[in-house]
Amino acid sequence: GRTTREWQAADASHFLHPFTDHQALASKGVRVITRGEGVYVWDSEGQRILDAMSGLWCVNVGYGQESLIEAATQQMRTLPYYNAFFQTTTPAATALAERLAARTPESFRHAFFCGSGSEANDTVIRLVRRYWDLMGQPQRKVIISRLNAYHGSTMAAASLGGMSAMHAQGGLPIPGIVHIDQPHYWAHRHGAAQGLDREAFGLLAARWLEDKIAEVGAGNVAAFIGEPVQGAGGVIVPPSTYWPEIQRICDRHGILLVSDEVVCGFGRTGQWWGCETFGTKPDLLTFAKGVTSGYVPLGGVMVGERVARLLIEQGGEFEHGYTYSGHPVACAVGLANLDLIEREDLVARVREDTGPYLAQQLATLMEHPMVGEVQSCGLMAAVQLCRNVPLREAFAPEIAIGMVCRRHCFDNGLVMRAVGDRMIVAPPLVITRGQIDEMFALVRQALDRTLAEARA
Ligand code: PLP
Repeated sequence: GRTTREWQAADASHFLHPFTDHQALASKGVRVITRGEGVYVWDSEGQRILDAMSGLWCVNVGYGQESLIEAATQQMRTLPYYNAFFQTTTPAATALAERLAARTPESFRHAFFCGSGSEANDTVIRLVRRYWDLMGQPQRKVIISRLNAYHGSTMAAASLGGMSAMHAQGGLPIPGIVHIDQPHYWAHRHGAAQGLDREAFGLLAARWLEDKIAEVGAGNVAAFIGEPVQGAGGVIVPPSTYWPEIQRICDRHGILLVSDEVVCGFGRTGQWWGCETFGTKPDLLTFAKGVTSGYVPLGGVMVGERVARLLIEQGGEFEHGYTYSGHPVACAVGLANLDLIEREDLVARVREDTGPYLAQQLATLMEHPMVGEVQSCGLMAAVQLCRNVPLREAFAPEIAIGMVCRRHCFDNGLVMRAVGDRMIVAPPLVITRGQIDEMFALVRQALDRTLAEARA
């Protein structure tokens, strides 16, 4: 094997990393992750790291699950690849579609497979526009999404997303995609949310959708897309009033509702789907990540009967698909992953045990002088750092306090993500109470070190 330094040199010479400032990376040197077990990974120096982000919100069953490895191995031996384009399928792909139909709300009976969440959301754009074409309302093209949302990195998925830095590089969004603000009580504390309680603010934020529909013209709007809990945008848990009001607005105007469940799906929120936690009935549901716990790439769209029936009965050929739509190895791993989630009753465990326990531990962080807000839903949580808690004052952006905190976590054996001044976690769903305690001990240490550095 090579030494860490040798890996770092090879990496700096040849690997262009996603979402990375390579100058900053060069000054520190990349960290080489070499193996994983349960909720932990190890680096090339032998340091153990508690992966409180489940990789990128995906390794929900933890590292090293033999049944997933076995499923992949067997499928590779039997049939490593075949496509689903020309009136063919594989048992794994059809079985996973059937299984997902049974696991999702009743209105979903069909799955369309892709290789990733980005491709799933791209597919949604074509599906909803196709739906309105077939409905004889081709002018209904506009999709409404939210600022600060993350829906993927392809040009269309990044357009759906509301990340201004992503729009700036590449001249996005593509035409026909508009955004409304997110239902973040804390972020609006000095503005729209002033004087309102959370629930009243939730209604107000939902009505931004109605305002946008009026602006664009209801007859031009195809769909609204949102994550039940905005994940990469900072684990923004909406007030309980928000999603039911969004549903009412979509229903009133006949607009398709799309739930991006790439992060929230497969038990993360304590129910199988975020839309169940928040009480919506979406027409389309996108998934990825947790469907295979990240062991192999897979994504897809659950297509509700309202759209599927029209597409199947009147649509002719659907001009869309990927080489890896229904990849048999990915689908075989997906089936083994669902077996494991069910066998270990992981969703109920999040809902009834580890989720509430994490929330309880999280609440104690409010005593820390640098914590202005904590929020969680199931096993996803956020800690808002701020300079002056009583005044609810933010740190100056140039301090990049979140990055400081992330560095202290990582150096100390914990993966925690920073979104601006918000620290977020989404540990594997197999995490135990003892490991949650260990995670919070590391978080506290990192907060103390961050505070000391900020004051220095
Ligand atoms: N949608 C959401 C909510 C996500 O968080 C992500 C990835 O983080 C995506 C879509 C894109 O998925 P992928 O990276 O598999 O393309």
